[in-house]
Amino acid sequence: NLINDRKTSPSRTLSTEKEPEKKVIFSGIQPTGIPHLGNYLGALRQWVKLQDQSDKSTRLIYSLVDLHAITIRQDPAHLRQWKKESLAMLLAIGLDPTRSTIFYQSDVPAHSELMWILSCQASTGYLGRMTQWKDKTSNEKEGNERLKLGLFSYPVLQAADVLIHQTTHVPVGHDQAQHLEFAREVAQGFNHLYGVDTFAVPETIISPAKRVMSLTDPQAKMSKSHPNPKSRILLTDSEETIKAKLKAAVTDSIDGIAYDPPGRPGVSNLLDIIYHAEGHADTGEDGSGQAALAKELDGASLRVVKERAATAVNDVVRPIRERFAELIEQQSYLDEAAAAGAFKAQISAAETMQKVRRAIGFA
Ligand code: ATP
Repeated sequence: NLINDRKTSPSRTLSTEKEPEKKVIFSGIQPTGIPHLGNYLGALRQWVKLQDQSDKSTRLIYSLVDLHAITIRQDPAHLRQWKKESLAMLLAIGLDPTRSTIFYQSDVPAHSELMWILSCQASTGYLGRMTQWKDKTSNEKEGNERLKLGLFSYPVLQAADVLIHQTTHVPVGHDQAQHLEFAREVAQGFNHLYGVDTFAVPETIISPAKRVMSLTDPQAKMSKSHPNPKSRILLTDSEETIKAKLKAAVTDSIDGIAYDPPGRPGVSNLLDIIYHAEGHADTGEDGSGQAALAKELDGASLRVVKERAATAVNDVVRPIRERFAELIEQQSYLDEAAAAGAFKAQISAAETMQKVRRAIGFA
């Protein structure tokens, strides 16, 4: 019972564990739509694995980062629905709210408070050099008027998310490595200025799975916010939908099957999907497994490759989709899980904020 857990204060539960806490793992996902295959293979599957491999000396914290989601304008009704669906999805993939702290970021206002404090230390020059910001500004044809301050300071909020829980390890995709380096430097800078042990300095765990690319534009990554719904496989898609989306995946007209992401992005994406969906989650970075798979499939038609991808993806998605369908109907269970997660995260954040307030002279 999640609510009963709250009667014993989580801070007490944590501090009375026999083993001292050695690791704190934190990661987040934006509630900007139903999570897709890329989110799962690139991030969420690793979250569950970390949970299942960890003992009580590791604290796991996973956040639905709704404050990050509003750096781009969101329709309030959609955001409300996506928050609920994203929470149900985290539970459907196998995260257990009694073992992992799962919470909505905006339920813990201390994240925003710490962000402000860190903003007073962060250099605008450094933030302006962030690749993601530069990508956005170079695409912006109408000048900077439309670019919001929240998008610019996104890495500061991300640093606050991580540092406020004394995080030691952050599992993320390659795209986030630069932001994590920023968080490390913010922690080291603050510790140097105000007190050596205010923040733990987090390490990055880069996900072994490569980026899953869009099915309609294999040069771009699969994303929740891409306007074409056929570009992504949702973790709620039916068997037929998955088959149809993969059947229509953009490839090329070159003979044979080869793993060559720059030259043959569509076919290589299918090989990556098969490789990772068939369970080779921990390897694949160097592409040798996918190349071996291409050799095995050489001579087969693209139809056969797409069917094999559909079988592998359906085997991954089927149990998740079924569990999600049950959970999304259980409003009170979802509310309880969110409340229990918020409670634990608030306590964890309050402990750090006490240190921060003392360090800077607020208390
Ligand atoms: P949005 O389209 O709204 O920006 P997103 O699909 O990019 O969302 P995020 O919520 O920003 O997803 O990211 C959640 C996690 O999923 C991150 O760790 C990110 O690195 C990972 N991720 C996102 N897209 C992919 C992808 N196509 N392949 C592999 N990992 C991905």
